[in-house]
Amino acid sequence: MARHGGGRGWYGKVLGAALGVALAAGGASAWSAQAGAVGGSSKTPASAKPAGAVKPVAVTIAHASDKGARGVNITIDDGPDPVWTPQVLDVLREYGVKATFCMVGTQAQAHPDLVKKVVAAGHRLCDHSVSHDTTMDKNSQTYQSKQILDAERMITKASGGVRPMYYRAPGGAFTPYSRKLAASRGMRPLGWNVDSKDFERPGTDAIVATVEQEVPNGPTLLFHDAGGDRSQTVEALDRILPRLKEQGYSFGFPVC
Ligand SMILES: [Zn+2]
Repeated sequence: MARHGGGRGWYGKVLGAALGVALAAGGASAWSAQAGAVGGSSKTPASAKPAGAVKPVAVTIAHASDKGARGVNITIDDGPDPVWTPQVLDVLREYGVKATFCMVGTQAQAHPDLVKKVVAAGHRLCDHSVSHDTTMDKNSQTYQSKQILDAERMITKASGGVRPMYYRAPGGAFTPYSRKLAASRGMRPLGWNVDSKDFERPGTDAIVATVEQEVPNGPTLLFHDAGGDRSQTVEALDRILPRLKEQGYSFGFPVC
């Protein structure tokens, strides 16, 4: 739940680059162009969604897992990051876990190779706004719209045409307007039930303990793959994933 407003200077650095982003993406052309490049349709990841086929989804904030009562959704926020995202991907692959990556638009734009890797591994994409402004709910609708829709375009472009299926407001700063806008673009507002508090780097043991204690609270777990040294997150996932499996949980995606 942390709004982690401090220590976020790195967003500012990449924000400048974001302002130059081409906003003309979208429409069917982005997808059609990519479909050929990606290869046969049999290879299309489950997370793939044609850019031209936007289907509105529910405006309520999703928490449930598509795997049902013993399902757990791993969600990874604020990346992609060239140091930590590959390590998180390695751990997820080791345990055969698919996750949802809530990406910051500027990060996606800066690291399109990583966005493509995430998609190729079968994970899903989530729009986490352009610049991770946790006070977004205090800003105008015009501002919110730009943050959400520009990030949608940046992520879709970086992925090679695969659209984000969710929208998670930075710091959970949703508004009725932002939820409705995201839903109209086919992005289900995405919440969380368990904040692993990994962002605060409390130590690997503490992260593992928090998840163990709180996983009965609900299925959607929050971790981070950017915004600082995430070695504790990588180590914690390496312990949490097999443990949850032993406890009979299965890993899924948030309902959308
Ligand atoms: Zn975040």
